[in-house]
Amino acid sequence: MSEYKAPIAEWKELSPGVYAYLQPRGWFQNNTGLIVGAKGAIVVDSLTNKPMVESFIKKIKEVTDKPIHFLINTHTHGDHIYTNHFFPEATVICSARAREITKKADPHEIELMKQFFPDMSFEEARVTPQDMTFEKKLVIYQEDREVQLIDLGPGHSQSDTIVYLPKEKIVFCGDLLMTGSPQQTMSGCIHLLMQNLDFLASLDVKMYVPGHGPISKRDDVYVMREYLVVVREESRKCFDKGMTFDEAAETIDIGKFKDWGFTELLYANCARAYSEFKGEEPAAELNIMEIAPKMFAKK
Ligand SMILES: [Zn+2]
Repeated sequence: MSEYKAPIAEWKELSPGVYAYLQPRGWFQNNTGLIVGAKGAIVVDSLTNKPMVESFIKKIKEVTDKPIHFLINTHTHGDHIYTNHFFPEATVICSARAREITKKADPHEIELMKQFFPDMSFEEARVTPQDMTFEKKLVIYQEDREVQLIDLGPGHSQSDTIVYLPKEKIVFCGDLLMTGSPQQTMSGCIHLLMQNLDFLASLDVKMYVPGHGPISKRDDVYVMREYLVVVREESRKCFDKGMTFDEAAETIDIGKFKDWGFTELLYANCARAYSEFKGEEPAAELNIMEIAPKMFAKK
């Protein structure tokens, strides 16, 4: 563990006082954000481990000494919440559904992740339930800046919130958008994710901050939607032939999206597509112990 160093992240000012912390592509290497107002700052998402969050906090301190009033969790996946406790002065906000999921987290979740990702550090990773919730929409004002938190319901996860700055035309997408790598819908819903991507594309936005990947444009939202169409159509052919979800994951041709790598994610995405073909409810719980070992054996 002492060998582990946080990956070198890119730190970008997108508009005066609005920053993105962009980590290189990789499992558990998410992006985060900082929005600085006159009285205090808002952070979008925490990170996986102590070295990562300390590197992010160092960047924050280089640009502001204002207190961090709020930390927003876009969703409940570990890379976005495991270091919430490194922002003790902040009120941590998420959707009401996301807090329910956080509260129900398996107490062994982090131990399990350590087994699946032996090269990743989970130093001081912890699941800390959020302090404040909202339904559908919450607006935080920083003087004349509007910071809109919009809960889009299930998509990438069981509840995904975006953070939209209409004046600056910037949106922090959480993991609804991943640019240059495949989606992961193990706990989400493919057809609702496609609707959420349509909503993201409809916003008056110049810069999309994905949960993973570089600063993106509207076209990247369409590309992600196209990936999901291919996954769903190809999975459907396998489903109709009576193949299992893992046979589908090993068989289907995702064409140009092969270049993205991370093809192990097809196990999760095919399992999710199969659940939807069987008519199960959106974001129905899948058996992670059936899917994850196959997926992580391939990574
Ligand atoms: Zn996620």
